[in-house]
Amino acid sequence: MTTIETIIEQARSYLPQLDATLIRRAGQFNTHAHEAPKLSCGRDCAQHSLEVAAILARLKVDETTLVVGLLHDVLTDQAVSAEDLSSGFGGTILSLVEVADKISSIPYRKSNQQQVESFRKMFVAMARDLRVILVCLADRLSHMRALDGSSDRDQVDYSRETLEIYAPIANRLGISWLKSELEDRSLRFLEPEKYAELASQITAHKEERNRYVTQVRERICDLLGVNGIQGEITGRFKHFYSVYKKMERTGVDLGQIYDLTAFRVLVDSVRECYEVLGLIHATWKPIPGRFKDYIAMPKVNMYQSLHTTVIGPYGERMEVQIRTV
Ligand code: MN
Repeated sequence: MTTIETIIEQARSYLPQLDATLIRRAGQFNTHAHEAPKLSCGRDCAQHSLEVAAILARLKVDETTLVVGLLHDVLTDQAVSAEDLSSGFGGTILSLVEVADKISSIPYRKSNQQQVESFRKMFVAMARDLRVILVCLADRLSHMRALDGSSDRDQVDYSRETLEIYAPIANRLGISWLKSELEDRSLRFLEPEKYAELASQITAHKEERNRYVTQVRERICDLLGVNGIQGEITGRFKHFYSVYKKMERTGVDLGQIYDLTAFRVLVDSVRECYEVLGLIHATWKPIPGRFKDYIAMPKVNMYQSLHTTVIGPYGERMEVQIRTV
């Protein structure tokens, strides 16, 4: 179970100077605000806010954003007033909490593509501050994790909204683990049978996949070694939703599993990221239009990563992410 102390510990791993006073105070405030039995989120609200903060800590956000995560729901149940919040934590935190609150209460209707697009724009316009978007994404993930207890109707509506609005935003920000988890959890509610089938087939191909991963990993390892670069290389099966989309799109079956693996190379510096990219592209032919540079994009540089797709050793499409530790 997440506690305020585990969040502080998590935050100190990337904010070593953190004075935890404010976060502890927000934790207490959160607990008190949700003591009233009226639970708008249908489960333990105080625990939900802690989970949101823990997700934010995994995104390595600043102290203010962690506090906003802890407090993001305190106004909803009206146990706490805006004045209380402002006098306890200041105007900035109050206004961030209010915007986050407003965004999650936008009425969403199942809609055509144009409406989805305008919803997305409104979302981004309201949350000019990236920190609010991160809080909303973390909030959504926490709710998706707790969706098992909801009605079938809610599960479907909520999952569709997650897939149409939230996952694409996470994707634009380059936060791939969050995007993947949102998508996979949505798929499980929207297409439960296909999800179960995928899960069992993926398990069935495990050994073959592991052999392939080992082989490619050694190849990349040699490539780095010869060029004097220290790096850590991992290979993983792509997340369920991307496999599902690929199968829908191209009609391939899971027999072609090489197409479904992604590699990640962790290096020490941004300069080495580009060096590794050059080595990969010199070894395997890159697929045009698949290269994304999340290092050079200044607004989202909390995530320093280069993404590319190349034609791998068996003629398969092979995704490679190169990032700093
Ligand atoms: Mn919430």
